[in-house]
Amino acid sequence: MLDLAIIGGGPAGLTAGLYATRGGLNNVVMFDMGLLGGQITGSSEIENYPGQSSLMTGMELMESWPEQCQKFGLKHEVKQVSKVAKENEIFTLSMSDGSTYEAKSVLLATGSVPRRAGFKGEDKFFGRGISTCATCDGFFYKGKEVALIGGGDSALEEAIYLSKMCSKVYLVHRRDTYRAAPVTIKHMKACKNIEEVSNVDVEEVIGDNMGVNGLILKSKIDKKIKQLDVPGVFVFVGRDVLNEPLKQDDGSFLCDTNEQGEIIVNLRMQTNIKGLYAAGDVRIDAAKQVVCAAGDGSTAAVNIIEYLG
Ligand code: NAP
Repeated sequence: MLDLAIIGGGPAGLTAGLYATRGGLNNVVMFDMGLLGGQITGSSEIENYPGQSSLMTGMELMESWPEQCQKFGLKHEVKQVSKVAKENEIFTLSMSDGSTYEAKSVLLATGSVPRRAGFKGEDKFFGRGISTCATCDGFFYKGKEVALIGGGDSALEEAIYLSKMCSKVYLVHRRDTYRAAPVTIKHMKACKNIEEVSNVDVEEVIGDNMGVNGLILKSKIDKKIKQLDVPGVFVFVGRDVLNEPLKQDDGSFLCDTNEQGEIIVNLRMQTNIKGLYAAGDVRIDAAKQVVCAAGDGSTAAVNIIEYLG
């Protein structure tokens, strides 16, 4: 019987593992299928992690985290958790390989993935001119023109962020009204170098061996084709949280979630199910920053130790 099962090996899961094992829990296993470190390992430049003295890649930032956790006894299993269920105060984790684990407590730290828009060239140029992180990659386009796709809060907020470093931001949206909050729309409209390109479908992102050099759009009104010659395209068409392990056989979730499927937690990272916690991007109101995910992980672990007594 595990004291704690951690699902996800990003900043939230790793930090929870560190605090839980160093805090005295003996049998803690972190389940993660991929490279430890989470989605930040895909970022090319990090310069806002506190205490960091030089610019580094996400991979470099996360390199020593697993070793530090393992030093205190955190075990890592390369297994995919397909389902978490709870009966008689005990959690059962079913793995995709057919094996099962029992645990007294569970932390879901699976994060989220940026949604793909589905246009031609998106997969081909992803990471080579197409980005889903303005904070990570905006700096590469300092003084240049970029296009940004989407019409929600994330798109408009990131367009405003990019407008401060890029010469021009084309805000490409498939409608002419935005989902974003009115105040965010007002701020976006006040940015002189944001050009709204509305009522268009993205046909294709084009480029060569060096990366992206243009975006082809089709007007929904007159069907005319328009090309934007930009070296960078940012896509903000929503995010999908990775909440699958909490899905029960009847389609409901083991704990309360909001409409987006984000896990509802309190300030202790505790869900409405005793012993079940969530941390990082998978939870409601996540700031989607490494430092915040790490903070969530430590908060969860401290409270799990208290819960287990
Ligand atoms: P979102 O609100 O779901 O907006 C996604 C946008 O992308 C929509 O404008 C949508 O167009 C567009 N879109 C979706 N699929 C597309 C496709 N295939 N091609 C082109 N465009 C596509 O996502 P989000 O902005 O990531 O926000 C997610 C949630 O977090 C929202 O509830 C949001 O309010 C919240 N959020 C809040 C804040 C804040 O409060 N500061 C910041 C960020 C996010 P349509 O409008 O036509 O559907």
